[in-house]
Order: sequence, then C-alpha cells, then structure tokens
Amino acid sequence: MRLATLRTARGPRLAAQRGEEWIDLNLANLDIPATLRGLLNAGDGALMAARRAVDDPKAPTVETGTIRFLAPMPDPQKIVCLGLNYRDHAAEGGVPIPKDPVLFSKYATALIGHGEAIVLPPVSKEVDYEAELVVVIGKRGRDIAPEAGLEHVAGYTIGHDVSARDWQLTKDGRQWMAGKTFDTFAPTGPVLVTADEVPDPQALPIRLRLNGQTMQESNTREMIFPVAFVVAYLSQIFTLEPGDLIFTGTPSGVGMSRKPPVFLKAGDVVEGSTPGASGTV
Ligand code: MN
Repeated sequence: MRLATLRTARGPRLAAQRGEEWIDLNLANLDIPATLRGLLNAGDGALMAARRAVDDPKAPTVETGTIRFLAPMPDPQKIVCLGLNYRDHAAEGGVPIPKDPVLFSKYATALIGHGEAIVLPPVSKEVDYEAELVVVIGKRGRDIAPEAGLEHVAGYTIGHDVSARDWQLTKDGRQWMAGKTFDTFAPTGPVLVTADEVPDPQALPIRLRLNGQTMQESNTREMIFPVAFVVAYLSQIFTLEPGDLIFTGTPSGVGMSRKPPVFLKAGDVVEGSTPGASGTV
C-alpha cells in the first residue's frame, strides 16, 4: 500500500492510494484509525482492514482537486538520522568510513510534506540538500536482533535531510543537530510505501534532482550500515516506537562537495525519489 497523510477540511486524514484516487481509510471503515500513528499502533489487523478498504470499489475517496500532502508520518516521537552512511559520500567529504553509525536528531518541527516550502534561515548562507531513504518503524522494540530488524519496519518514504553546513561544520564542536533541524529541514513523502512492497531495502535506486538536474544518483546497496542493522543498533539505546523515523544517510553528490559548491537558493525545486516514493519541495 501507498499511504499518505492528507490535509483536509476535517484535519489531517490517513489515506491510501488507488490509481489516481485516495481512499479515506477511516471513512471506509470506522475501525481503521484516521492517523498513521493510530494505524501503526493498531497493528496487523488494522493494516489488513486498510488493504480490504483499498480493494473495496465502494470505498469513499478524497476529492482529487483538493489533495495537499502533509508528511506521511507528521508526529513521530523520534526522528533519528545517520550521517556518513554511504561509502561514496564519506569519500567525497574526505572522511574515513565510520566504524560505528554516526547519529544525530531532527525534531518534528522540521517535518514538512511533498510540495511544501523549505524556509531558508537568514542565519545560514550554506543550506545544502541530501536525499535519503527514510524508515518508518511499525512495531515497538528494544534490543532487537539484527536478523529481526526488518520485522519492526512498517515501510519506507523518501526524505530530504536539509543541512545548514555553516552551522553543522563551523560552529564550535561541529553541531550536526543544530545544522540539520531548522524548521522545515525534514521534508518527507508524499507516501509511505509499506514494507511488503519493498522486498529488499538494500536494493533501491535513490536520486535527487535540483531544478530538474540530477545531483545525486546511487543505490541503497552502497549503505555502510544497512537498515536491519541500524534498527537493531538503535534499539540498544532506546525503545523504538511505531511511527519513529530513521533517516538512513545520503549518497554522494551533495552541494558542499562540488566545485564550486552548490547551495540552495530561493525558488529552487528539489525532488527526491526512490521507487514507489518521490517528493518535491
Ligand atoms: Mn544526511
């Protein structure tokens, strides 16, 4: 299934895509929660009910003229991010391949949806782009074994780890969190693709285009720490909850490594894509 959170007159609504149509899952079946967090918390039974609603030709649809996307998971408890998780990106930055996952956080105030605008902060002159596969956790877990890591994944979306390089790299102590969680610095979506449609998350092409020009083009097989390992690793530190997001790192081609460097400016259009999921900001 392809799930989205739509902005509607009655507030954010969980919807599933069927061709050109969007099914309001809760209107189709009142037993299905109206939010993605609710659906994930309700477990496999609710997911099966959602699949039946998508297959029901009489299920009510959202007016297509009014589709506006929020982040598919608009209110996660955690947004955990990996830095330097692609071999080619570590190399272009001139830094060694990390032996351990490099972790930082974003906050929910950074989340925006497909088609919404990134706000360039006046205090930064070096706002860069990074396309990333984003994992959405589906099942609570702590001390998860790596071989069970993918069982805790509800699905995947495309995300943009917008990065103020001057804050990330030149403030005392190299402050990754500060540089990466300005408001609007975490576009995701439009859709979450459920895990059953992604048989191998380590075999996904990933691409970013800036004003139509391809700037990043790689494949998730280049990840240093694969998704299942990352889920297990993080669950040693904290309990993973349904709806938690994991930004899994970006491949090479970022703006700061180009000669001359490329930073985002007003009016730029950034598109990230991986099969089944693509978004524009
Ligand atoms: Mn990143």
